[in-house]
Amino acid sequence: MHSRRKREIRIQADSFREKCKISRYGIIDLFKECDRLGYKLLRYPLGEAADLGFALLKDDDVIIFINTSIRLSREIFTLAHEIGHVILHINGEKSFIDNNSTIAGSNVDEKEQEANYFAACLLMPSEVVERFIDLELPDFEENGLSGMDIARMMSEFNVSYDVALNRLESLGKIDINQKTRLQTERTEKRVGNLLRSIGGNARLNAAGNEIVIPYEYIDYVIYNYNHNAVPRETLEKVLDYYQLTIEDISDRLVDFPSEDDDLDDLIGGLED
Ligand SMILES: [Zn+2]
Repeated sequence: MHSRRKREIRIQADSFREKCKISRYGIIDLFKECDRLGYKLLRYPLGEAADLGFALLKDDDVIIFINTSIRLSREIFTLAHEIGHVILHINGEKSFIDNNSTIAGSNVDEKEQEANYFAACLLMPSEVVERFIDLELPDFEENGLSGMDIARMMSEFNVSYDVALNRLESLGKIDINQKTRLQTERTEKRVGNLLRSIGGNARLNAAGNEIVIPYEYIDYVIYNYNHNAVPRETLEKVLDYYQLTIEDISDRLVDFPSEDDDLDDLIGGLED
């Protein structure tokens, strides 16, 4: 990637981050930021083998889908990557579908590299990583980083162990040997244990299996059902996502008696 393009992407990531609620170092809840910015965010557990996520523009709506069958830290990175596509690439009829090879592959095309760079800059801007090391890791110059330090960064920045390592490497904070040593430490001690040992956010390392579908999708499916565009089973299935049943929304359902019956009732009523 050309250095001028990298700078443009950093500017975009920076201006997105300025709109977000930040804790000491990391974005507190990137999912909520999507809502606030008017993106339609869907989260659903599609299974570990399925795609990680996609972004598309439909009419004027930005729709981002994220698979919640994967670890939360990876889900957050996927979301940051999709936001990158939305801000950098999406137009007219384009959509982006991402899986392991587009997000974590070593030989990905330019747009995937750009979305990954955007995600890294959004979640872990270089000056914030610098500040974290300065304020939180006083022994860094002498001793370098331990697996527990990486776990602390995970918790503060809401990223995975791998994302933290990759970012530290690309910022020149660790070299390939240190990275390999930290990867070995991760394998030996397990990320979940490292997170627990520092009182960090162990949720990051587990799949959330969350189901989040914008509420307006209920209106959409009820409308379609009322106009005979979808069968009752589809309505029930969608309601089930929201833990609702037909009875819960029965007041919004239109029955479809024949028009003649309606008219007879009405005329009958007037004559009386
Ligand atoms: Zn992508």
